[in-house]
Amino acid sequence: MNDVPPYWTDPDKSEFDVSIESAKRLDDCYHIRIKENVIRPAGGGQAGEKGLLIVGDQSVSIIDTISDSAGVVLITDGSLAEGARGHLEIDMDWRSSMMKNHTSEHLFVAIIKKKNKDINVGELWIDGKHGTVELLGAELDLDTIFETEAEVMKIIEEDSPVTSSFVDSKSIDQSVRSREGLTEKYDQLRVVSAGDIDASACSGIHVTRTGDIGFFKVLEVKTSEKKTHVEFVAGMKAARLVSSLYNEALRRKYSYPYEMEQLGAVLDRAKLAVDDKQKLIEKTTQLLSSGSTVEQIADISFRHEYLPGYDANSLKILSNQIAVTESSIILLFAPGSKSQVILRTNGMPQDASEYISKPVLQFGGRGGGKGEVFTGGFVDVEEPMKLYENLVTEVRKLIA
Ligand SMILES: [Zn+2]
Repeated sequence: MNDVPPYWTDPDKSEFDVSIESAKRLDDCYHIRIKENVIRPAGGGQAGEKGLLIVGDQSVSIIDTISDSAGVVLITDGSLAEGARGHLEIDMDWRSSMMKNHTSEHLFVAIIKKKNKDINVGELWIDGKHGTVELLGAELDLDTIFETEAEVMKIIEEDSPVTSSFVDSKSIDQSVRSREGLTEKYDQLRVVSAGDIDASACSGIHVTRTGDIGFFKVLEVKTSEKKTHVEFVAGMKAARLVSSLYNEALRRKYSYPYEMEQLGAVLDRAKLAVDDKQKLIEKTTQLLSSGSTVEQIADISFRHEYLPGYDANSLKILSNQIAVTESSIILLFAPGSKSQVILRTNGMPQDASEYISKPVLQFGGRGGGKGEVFTGGFVDVEEPMKLYENLVTEVRKLIA
């Protein structure tokens, strides 16, 4: 390659003397061209660079850099005199974040492709804030993504060199990844190698050692129709994000006691509590509007209720509080990861267990009791409402 831009070989060089070739106003910004090929325009899925352009005591911000058929265009917020000599300062915060996001994308995709050879890269976007990549050919599960994330971190720790070489596109090795059409478009290709993990034909800016990435975090995974869309971030931005999330959880650890490792279980419980609350509202509404569920079977009153959100103890307390005078049976059922049932009799010829222990066993539960109270439980019931209805039907038969 004749004109190797400095950002390919020396990405840390951030200041250049430049000549303003032209400056034109376009809508609410300016298009400035410079003679030197020192700043990278958007392309190949990577955003354009930002920076400052200074001529004498005048300075304009480079908001973005693009390219057209005539070359590189700096999009700025002000104009500078054509023909003037000036100074260009690359926004290294933006570039360095892009380098980290981009190089980690190389590693991530290379590892994914090692796991699943049928995967191809679709849409790709890298800027200074984050990166997104579309993996075509599979709907990957979270475990695979997390495993890959951990492997990327391992390569970061290994601090392998990231190098560029220029090869004849006709003789390019099959192991080198390249976007479709790239080998036909150019005679020579720049191949970027990261350790012995990845070699890709790429025009982007990369870190020079994998250790420079520092940290890598997947932020979002979406799958649909044999596609997996992954959003990620690298470097200090990733570390800060993880740190702030950890602190959010840590803050609550003291007001709502739990162990940090139990966060997943706490969230599961919270989701269950929200669902239960909704069902409990529905139940309360039904009780207040239609009254309790009482059937008269001969001269026996059979009362039964489905009570989301109740645990074994609150069921027991409730069953004791329901006033009964006549011959009656009360059955209370609480759904949950462990569904609970309690049956209480009053003035009945037989013990409580006679009316329910068989159905409980029949439907896969366990339980016991003496005299007027029977309690039972069921583990991991898929359709608790159906189980409740089945129990009621069986108890009804036994009463009759
Ligand atoms: Zn690249």
